[in-house]
Amino acid sequence: MQICRTIKEIRAFVAKCRAEGQTVGLVPTMGYFHRGHLSLMREAKKSCHRVVVSLFVNPLQFGPKEDFSQYPRDFDRDCAMAEEVGVDAIFSPPDSEMYPEGFCTHVEVTGITGRLCGLSRPGHFRGVTTVVTKLFNIITPDKAFFGQKDAQQAMVIRRMAEDLNMGLEIVVLPTVREEDGLAMSSRNVYLDRDQRQNATVLYRSLCAFREAVDRGERDAESLRRSITKMIASTPGAEIDYVEILSVPNLEPVASLQGKVIAALAVRFGRTRLIDNIIVEV
Ligand code: AMP
Repeated sequence: MQICRTIKEIRAFVAKCRAEGQTVGLVPTMGYFHRGHLSLMREAKKSCHRVVVSLFVNPLQFGPKEDFSQYPRDFDRDCAMAEEVGVDAIFSPPDSEMYPEGFCTHVEVTGITGRLCGLSRPGHFRGVTTVVTKLFNIITPDKAFFGQKDAQQAMVIRRMAEDLNMGLEIVVLPTVREEDGLAMSSRNVYLDRDQRQNATVLYRSLCAFREAVDRGERDAESLRRSITKMIASTPGAEIDYVEILSVPNLEPVASLQGKVIAALAVRFGRTRLIDNIIVEV
């Protein structure tokens, strides 16, 4: 597995793949790998000749009071895990390589970024779409792989790739969970024992939502209230948002129809967790 720290190096790697007629898949990440990341890499490996994983904790997508400096990092462990699943190259540039002095261009998707995490994390998606555009331009992948866990991010990137004719396929893969249902996240390591236990309410509330829909409940506000009630009654859980919106436009719905997402963000202490489920009625 090749480790590239500069744009020049990763471009040379991709050029070599192209010269050999190989397709290239990209898995953009911020590292501190878990089985969620590995499932994206494995899928990428199945449908592309070569897989590049970008590992970059992107300062642009963190707010001033967020956890950029505390974000968990373990480069050696990440490299070992990626190599194990057959990744061909890691692109892990320093901040100065991605944002040299004078950098002042951003990519912004409007509309769907104005809800959910876009509301509670101003500037977050602008940071995501800017770095992902740079990665697409640098690596020119045939396909890029994202997780359903960050559903809004996947929708925003899909929209951006389509609107700006980026000419690659965006693949979105299911959320990988711990045995008790908690969505895997690099941030789960911040949780103490009680918080970790209580955090299972996120997925339990989403499963209860799905069951209510299966039983025929269609009233979005009533469904939203049930999820909220369940989470609010859990010790230590502080709700950021619970929303039920249409897919893929993320518009409010009164009565469930077609594809809808129930999405939530909940804080346990200083750790903010997100999860979601999509149902079709
Ligand atoms: P991150 O390193 O957290 O920025 O995540 C990198 C990619 O992995 C994103 O496309 C995420 O949506 C995806 N991802 C993170 N957690 C999971 C998970 N539990 N299951 C599936 N994909 C995930």
